[in-house]
Amino acid sequence: MGEFDLIARYFTRPTARAALGVGDDCALLQPAPGTQLAISSDMLVEGRHFFPDVDPFTLGHKALAVNLSDLAACGATPLAFTLALALPEADEAWLAPFSRGLFALADAHGCELVGGDTTQGPRNICITVFGEVPVINGKSQALLRSGAKADDDVYVSGTLGDARLALDALRGTVKLPAEVLAQARCRLEQPIPRVALGQALRSVASAAIDVSDGLLGDLQHILQASGVGATINTSNAINLIAACTRPDWTNGIISFEKQLEYVMAGGDDYELLFTAPASAREAVQAASRQAHTTVTRIGRIDHEPGMRLIDDHGNRAHALPSRFSSFDHFA
Ligand code: ADP
Ligand code: MG
Repeated sequence: MGEFDLIARYFTRPTARAALGVGDDCALLQPAPGTQLAISSDMLVEGRHFFPDVDPFTLGHKALAVNLSDLAACGATPLAFTLALALPEADEAWLAPFSRGLFALADAHGCELVGGDTTQGPRNICITVFGEVPVINGKSQALLRSGAKADDDVYVSGTLGDARLALDALRGTVKLPAEVLAQARCRLEQPIPRVALGQALRSVASAAIDVSDGLLGDLQHILQASGVGATINTSNAINLIAACTRPDWTNGIISFEKQLEYVMAGGDDYELLFTAPASAREAVQAASRQAHTTVTRIGRIDHEPGMRLIDDHGNRAHALPSRFSSFDHFA
């Protein structure tokens, strides 16, 4: 199978929303009047972001999911995406399930594949997504990292920790019962981008980011961009821990300390971390209901820069444990 057969067979679909899809030198997008384009790219490299033997169906899902998660963090509505693909060979047993996993998620979000590039090389998947954000009275409704204000509440959607738990189990550093690993693995390999929540939080949240590298590390990005600090209540944050690590599931294999580490620095969960003024608590709950996604309030934004951890009694941790720092490819 040649390059153009491969594109025609696995990556060419009729488009409805895009003005022009795969087949010409450029795709053409027509954003709705009164909107601006939100654009984001994410690359997945074999051996770095996924195991060589990972199920290609789930890989197709994840490659798009991590990109949709960036649109979610901006409050954008998905519109289209491009796919740049390097493959060692034109292996149909890999391409068919990869393309099915990719389009299953794309269809669920009405996000159309409009173009890309295909080349031979070490397996590498780079997707660029395009979304729409309304502009009202000349003001973009996009959620940014830079909008957090002192006294805002800090929230996280869903649960955290499972993706990292699964990674540790697959690397062999934790031994999990088979059914627990299966559930945790779903979170690692098929994350659910919080697209509906992101959109529902437009004009409610003051700042947002998706949690890809770990809660505290990603919170740090909001704090830096906004020029503020934060106090996080660990007794509230621990409630975010995903069910898979609970003692009744794992016979207590995962200690409380380890659970806290998974929550604070796990990474790969693709939940939304966002801030909102205390006056918006009702509106945050309404957004949560509308998007059928739970949200947990875990702390508060401060004038004072830096991050502080407190427990339920208001006692402060002396210093942030270094194991809570987030993932950095070049660290
Ligand atoms: P060009 O040489 O003009 O860059 P290509 O020959 O690389 O174009 O690609 C032909 C068409 O197929 C283009 O419309 C391109 O966007 C599309 N395409 C190439 N690879 C992919 C892919 N992996 N997924 C979707 N579309 C692709
Ligand atoms: Mg060309």
